[in-house]
Amino acid sequence: LHSCSALVYRQHGPHYDTLRMEKWALPAVGQHCVRLKMLAAPVNPADINMLQGTYPILPPFPAVGGNEGVGEVVEVGSEVTCFSPGDWVIPVDAGFGTWRTEVVCDTADVIKVPSDITLLGAATIGVNPCTAYRMLHDFEHLQPGDTVIQNGGNSAVGQAVIQIAAAMGVKTISVIRDRPNRQDLVEELMLMGADYVVTEEALQSSEMEAIFKKVPKPKLGLNCVGGQSGGLLLSHLDDGATLVTYGGMAKKPLLLPAKVLIFRNITLRGFWMTQWKRNTRRDPHLLQSMVSSLCDLVREGRLSPPRCIPVPFHHYRDALEGTLQAHQRKHV
Ligand code: NDP
Repeated sequence: LHSCSALVYRQHGPHYDTLRMEKWALPAVGQHCVRLKMLAAPVNPADINMLQGTYPILPPFPAVGGNEGVGEVVEVGSEVTCFSPGDWVIPVDAGFGTWRTEVVCDTADVIKVPSDITLLGAATIGVNPCTAYRMLHDFEHLQPGDTVIQNGGNSAVGQAVIQIAAAMGVKTISVIRDRPNRQDLVEELMLMGADYVVTEEALQSSEMEAIFKKVPKPKLGLNCVGGQSGGLLLSHLDDGATLVTYGGMAKKPLLLPAKVLIFRNITLRGFWMTQWKRNTRRDPHLLQSMVSSLCDLVREGRLSPPRCIPVPFHHYRDALEGTLQAHQRKHV
């Protein structure tokens, strides 16, 4: 029988020191199962929240870390016809435990991605670009020329929003936090197809009036941050627009001016990719067709993964340390 190395945790804690590299025996590959060799897996904010025990779904202990990643099929069960060795697959649901070298799973737990896209593109397609895609399609009927405003503009989701919106002909206003090397970041996002990149401070300045002379007020706002930043997005939305909250990076409640709800008829919604995937589990082609469209954008060079620092699996501490530090960054 085969075995794998896995990053396992048996308790929650504020840091990643609850993770242990363990050798696990793999079960035999059942009739409807596949054995995967994991090729690459990212560290997302939700992975950290799961380790900390603060995420709304928590896998039972002993748990393997990681929710996203790409694996290569290396063995298929006797009844499996939809996958062949060499295929690349990504998990359908959260809690898969991607931080391991190999895994045996049911065929229903993974979907295929083309293996002619970049490895990093495939490893990071299932969460952030899918979230961006759904938020751009499911809340407002956006047409070419419409505008979307978002904070966390440089987050992985924000970068996907910029690129998918550009492919749809939808204009984006992306809000970032000020920083010493701001111009470099602005240029990087503009190269991805961003139309306007502004700081949180600019949301309270005349810079916005100048922008709204060129593009219509946004029908859709995407809130990654919460707190005052989310509140400032609201004040720039068009009447009747929708603000979708999908992240709470500032760890502060959304500042919600009463006048926005009373006089401007703004709708507040939330989005959770995990729930969408669970709701559509009976209709797997919905996920498959979204992932295919996103992979087409990756192949065409119109959707690039966020800048990643690839780290060998056994140097996992570096990856986790880097992620935690990035989340604690203040810039001032
Ligand atoms: P990244 O790690 O790529 O980016 C984090 C972003 O948050 C950066 O833009 C960072 O800005 C910003 N940020 C961090 N701290 C603060 C703060 N105190 N105030 C303002 N901005 C801050 O994250 P992801 O794109 O992977 O995820 C972003 C958020 O979206 C997370 O909360 C994540 O959990 C959530 N998410 C939700 C999903 C859903 O289904 N609802 C799916 C995917 C992600 P800076 O560069 O200035 O530090």
